[in-house]
Amino acid sequence: TPGIRPLVAGNWKMNGASASLNELRAIGHGFLGGLDSETEALVCVPATLLARAAEVLSSTPVRPGGQDCHAEQNGAHTGDISGEMLKDAGATHVIVGHSERRADHGETDAMVHAKAEAAWRAGLVAIICIGETRDQRDDGETLTVLSRQIAGSIPAAATPSNAIVAYEPVWAIGTGLTPTALDVAKAHTHIRAELAATIGSEAAGKMRILYGGSVKPSNAVELLGVDNVDGALVGGASLKAADFLGIAEAY
Ligand code: PEP
Repeated sequence: TPGIRPLVAGNWKMNGASASLNELRAIGHGFLGGLDSETEALVCVPATLLARAAEVLSSTPVRPGGQDCHAEQNGAHTGDISGEMLKDAGATHVIVGHSERRADHGETDAMVHAKAEAAWRAGLVAIICIGETRDQRDDGETLTVLSRQIAGSIPAAATPSNAIVAYEPVWAIGTGLTPTALDVAKAHTHIRAELAATIGSEAAGKMRILYGGSVKPSNAVELLGVDNVDGALVGGASLKAADFLGIAEAY
């Protein structure tokens, strides 16, 4: 989208240990070494790696992010991690409302809304994920589902600098399946129009809308070239520096 700086964001999910920091180092160096500086890059690592990831990436343009945060700052929530903790460990961004969190942990739109606000309270940029399931797509409900998720998950205080929307069709995540360029265009155009209703058309016009779901170097040029696609959220292919850098080269 004209005037929007593209973002390529990795999501390592529940993958990666100390040895993976080498891959992260290679990603950082790749962005140092000549990739279009117009493209912003981020890798959302497991919380266990965050502080070391921040160190590895500190002299590179690539930023470290978290994958989820609790809505509260601290308290009796064993096993949970707050936005403030992620920020303290070096994160600049956090993913909220990923479909795996929605499915595995029963996260509702209202919970995702609260997590986005928690991210802002901690000084993090929230990457808010939405997307339809296979059944919803087959029933022709894709755009209705997106409207509902936008209304429920994206706070009215969202701005182009504190929030990023990621459109991730659930059936395309980790499956190797992708929507057609036309379907991606329809979804992203719809998302931008719906955002305008929540946050106003000027802010909506500048908000980054990422596509996520089986992005690879081989399909990145096509998917990232679609109107209103302002970058990618990349799962599996972000675990290998060569693949992640190959996707970023689509710009
Ligand atoms: C994701 O989980 O955000 C994702 C897009 O995964 P993958 O690229 O592996 O489909």
